[in-house]
Amino acid sequence: MNLFDAHNHLQDDRFAGCQAELVSACAGVGVARMVVNGACEADWPDVLALARAHPLVLPSFGYHPWYLGERTPDWEKQLAACLDAAPSAIGEIGLDRWKPGLPYAGQEEVFLAQLRLAAERNLPVSLHCLQAWGRLHELLRDHPRPAAGFLLHSFGGPAEMIPALARLGARFSFPGYYLHPRKARQREAFRHVPPDRLLLETDAPDQPLPADQIRFPLADAQGQPLNHPANLVAVYEGLAEFLGEPVATLAARVEENFHTLFGPPAVAATPPSQRVKATPRRPPPQLKTKNSKT
Ligand SMILES: [Zn+2]
Repeated sequence: MNLFDAHNHLQDDRFAGCQAELVSACAGVGVARMVVNGACEADWPDVLALARAHPLVLPSFGYHPWYLGERTPDWEKQLAACLDAAPSAIGEIGLDRWKPGLPYAGQEEVFLAQLRLAAERNLPVSLHCLQAWGRLHELLRDHPRPAAGFLLHSFGGPAEMIPALARLGARFSFPGYYLHPRKARQREAFRHVPPDRLLLETDAPDQPLPADQIRFPLADAQGQPLNHPANLVAVYEGLAEFLGEPVATLAARVEENFHTLFGPPAVAATPPSQRVKATPRRPPPQLKTKNSKT
């Protein structure tokens, strides 16, 4: 069974240089690919380096609304350079009216600049949205979007908006955090997601699962809990149980959905010399061999 993490932040400093270990634990439970999202300029070189070191990493570059205050006058040029080096995905970008103290001014401008880039390059784009669903829908409806589609990561919007968003090309990803009993509304919304638009994610190191479902406990140096990306296997199991379908059936469906959005699976003939390019369209064969063992 191949598992696909549609959204995480493997580059996060809280993982304190243990990324190689985390990746091998992920491969051990069948994770075939993970979309690693850079959220600001400082992240992007780290994301690119991870993709070069680990074939299962699909790099994604974007400016997250929480970090807009850090952007340099050069940010668009830097973003374009990363996408030239690894033209695979844009994100995490988005709109946030929830975070206390975060200015909304400027968010739409930066969001639209990146959406335009995604449309021009036809790259899948990963979106963060908190308390701005109506506005997000308007902006997506009224501006060019990538034909490849877009991911609403940790979708927490109203279930009634799912059909309208799906018509624009949305995919909806389910985080392990929604397995918490108090997240019933968010969980229930996933019953309304079209079968071909469903993805799963860890959002590691954030959005931990309920304590009794954590398969890979992890904490930072200060003892603060972190979500280990290999917990993806428990996200699959939890969602399969909630939807009342066998986990293998869910996994097969999600595998197809992942490839439809982020690019087709490995081409077995790709020579090792191309591995460093880390493009999603041609993941290296090494990964396939690993997966077939698990
Ligand atoms: Zn994220």
